[in-house]
Amino acid sequence: GAKDDGRNNFKYFTPMMNQAMVERHAMERALRRAMLRREFLLHYQPVVDIKTGEVTGLEALLRWQDPDKGLISPSHFIPVAEDMGLMVPLGQWVIDTALGDLAALHAQGFGLSMAINVSACQCRDKQQGLAQQLAQALNRHGIAPRHLHVEITESMLMDDSNHCLATLNHIRDLGCTIYLDDFGTGYSSLSYLKKFPISVIKIDRSFVENLPDCESDASLIRAIIQMGKSLGMKLVAEGIETEEQQAFLQVLGSDYGQGYLYSRPLPLEALSDWLDKRVGHGAKAQPQFDI
Ligand code: C2E
Ligand code: MG
Ligand code: MG
Ligand code: MG
Repeated sequence: GAKDDGRNNFKYFTPMMNQAMVERHAMERALRRAMLRREFLLHYQPVVDIKTGEVTGLEALLRWQDPDKGLISPSHFIPVAEDMGLMVPLGQWVIDTALGDLAALHAQGFGLSMAINVSACQCRDKQQGLAQQLAQALNRHGIAPRHLHVEITESMLMDDSNHCLATLNHIRDLGCTIYLDDFGTGYSSLSYLKKFPISVIKIDRSFVENLPDCESDASLIRAIIQMGKSLGMKLVAEGIETEEQQAFLQVLGSDYGQGYLYSRPLPLEALSDWLDKRVGHGAKAQPQFDI
């Protein structure tokens, strides 16, 4: 890298790299400002029981509302926020906001669960302690731990895995459920499936996309579902956009489904309206008292 090789490295510094660095720097500045101005918000996407269509939970998905650029997708800014060390405080905000909104939905009679995505740096952070943060937020909002699902990715299981393992065990011991997100897209070995306290596998959208026509993707999904079930896990299929995909995944034995077929991720208000319309189509109308 530039640091090791000293000044000789400047000859590799092309206008294109300069452009990328300028953009990166601009995004870092904009992100710092966004933290101060509170430009972040959450959208929620329903998760349904694939057999009954009953809405069982939501996934909280982070967005950045930039005053100039509009709504920015998390895949653009989360990697930068992670590098800057912003994902620990931002992740804390996600946890608190999602559980606050869930408490409001519970009060409206929707006894749903909430899935939160966490970054490796949140799991790694020893000062804040992810398990403790979650426990405190659950307590603050009066939510039972069984209503909180924590989504991790395969890449998280590879680095500093002993600390990560201890943290995830602690979260599981609280009574929360650990989900393995984007399954099949990472590079780690399958042995983590028994080493880590994972209860649910989310089949990545890239395998669902070409169903039902793509036979190799269908075979892969079949194998993932069989493997998950034989380990006593549940499965969620991501990115379901068509009735055909839903029917296919139901036959293959996926337990839950998520995707544009049911709903796009929505702001809380719109989501609440969507849930109201679906009452009688499965959304639980009984208030659940967690205290
Ligand atoms: P993910 O956790 O795998 O979330 C699913 C992504 O698929 C979401 O993208 C969702 O909008 C999109 N999606 C859902 N259904 C469909 C569908 O039927 N078709 C298509 N084409 N897409 C669908 P989104 O919201 O852009 O989020 C991207 C990723 O950013 C997430 O992937 C997650 O890894 C990450 N992310 C989002 N919010 C957070 C957060 O609060 N913390 C962390 N650490 N990561 C987050
Ligand atoms: Mg997720
Ligand atoms: Mg996913
Ligand atoms: Mg994904």
